[in-house]
Amino acid sequence: MRKTKIICTIGPASSTKETIGQMIDAGMNVARFNFSHSTHEEQKVLMDLVKETAKEKNKAVGILLDTKGPEVRVGVFENGRMEIAKGEEVAFTKEADSPAPCDKKINISYPRLIDEWRMTAREVRERYASGQPHIILADDGNMEFRVKDVGDDYILCESRRSGALTNRKSLNFPDYDIDMMYLSLKDEDDIKFGLEQGIQYVAASFVRCAEDVKDIKKFIAKQGYSGVEIIAKIENQRGVDNLDEIIDVADGVMVARGDMGVEIAYVKLPEIQKTIIQKCTEKGKFVITATQMLESMISHPRPTRAEISDVANAVYDNTTCVMLSGESAAGMYPVESVKAISDICREAERNNSHKAHCEYMLRNKRHPNVSIICHAAQSIICETNAKAIIAVSNGGFTIRELSRFRPDIPIVAIVTHKEVYTSLSIYYGVVPLLGEEKESAADIIAQAKLKAIDAGLVTKGDTVIILFDNNITSRNGTNTLSIEVV
Ligand code: PEP
Repeated sequence: MRKTKIICTIGPASSTKETIGQMIDAGMNVARFNFSHSTHEEQKVLMDLVKETAKEKNKAVGILLDTKGPEVRVGVFENGRMEIAKGEEVAFTKEADSPAPCDKKINISYPRLIDEWRMTAREVRERYASGQPHIILADDGNMEFRVKDVGDDYILCESRRSGALTNRKSLNFPDYDIDMMYLSLKDEDDIKFGLEQGIQYVAASFVRCAEDVKDIKKFIAKQGYSGVEIIAKIENQRGVDNLDEIIDVADGVMVARGDMGVEIAYVKLPEIQKTIIQKCTEKGKFVITATQMLESMISHPRPTRAEISDVANAVYDNTTCVMLSGESAAGMYPVESVKAISDICREAERNNSHKAHCEYMLRNKRHPNVSIICHAAQSIICETNAKAIIAVSNGGFTIRELSRFRPDIPIVAIVTHKEVYTSLSIYYGVVPLLGEEKESAADIIAQAKLKAIDAGLVTKGDTVIILFDNNITSRNGTNTLSIEVV
């Protein structure tokens, strides 16, 4: 059984029930919806398709809403694009018709940036004169502009390359920390919409500090919702600088390598990725390695050798999830991509025992989030040849705690609440199954064994560890561990 979880971005290439069904069969655990693109109506149609198909297939497939976040984009161009020659001057402007000292004007979605830079216009000019200008990147870094001057309504730049800019391309400011409010009205509106659709996770784009994560949590609580997990996307230098405090408040973290590779010198990426995974592993948070994992499969049916190694190395480093973006949203081979990433993860897991991690977690007894009973269960796993650990849980707390240990055997989660069942789909090694409330310990154990057999995770004669709440009347948390033979 594969334990690393697979997140797939849904888009035009995965917009039919048939394709979504095949992606679930191939191993998709969580469907990601990118709110930088598409309308609520379009997203709702696809979210409903995922929910309906998962239900029919009896599979837990979580829904992840990825926010637009505090990003700056260019506006729209006449004919949809603007050709720019190397060395040519362009002006980023407040409005399409703002006065500027050159003909090529590109209006931007955050005009306040021009006012911010206007206050330091002298420094901007001095930097340009000294050969260390501010840099503005566009189109994933493919277009690069050196900032020459700032006026009341424009930022005057010189293009370092020839190329074309198309409508609404995002801009990156690698050497400038934009002082933008974290939650925009669009993000609030999108999150509200997602909550109404029953999403399980919000991936918070461009998180800069713990406060940004807390702002989203407060906003969700204010809407009257609970249980939605927040994934902090680390994609700029401030996010990297404040990594520890961010991990502490987030439920999980995403290594968002796309924007990170533009915001930060790309040679730094491998080390940052390893550090984020290691810190999340130590703190017991789930971690998603994202972007361009199988990029070539957007147009080819097989991954490159380098991509195979990239995915496997992320698993060796202890990533708990991998993610597909363009491969599943806009590529020619969405189903083949899920199948390939699933096969690579399964093979890498086979070669990568998590014993060292288990032992680390066992030694680290003071870890604040590891409950005693899960710690005990993990010790038993290390000492026995148990084939599965089965946890019967109402709120999912015990199951999330068990997943922190990343045991080598499946964590069978038997839950009665539909929302908890779906939200567990992102957790490493967890197989969520829907069960029924039982009135006695004997019935709880019998159901647990039966469900694990039916799911094909254990067979008769196997040893299993079962965790459950034996306070049938008050139900106040897991208090019983039983070693059973199926
Ligand atoms: C990324 O930048 O790697 C990422 C996952 O974010 P997005 O796809 O929203 O740009």
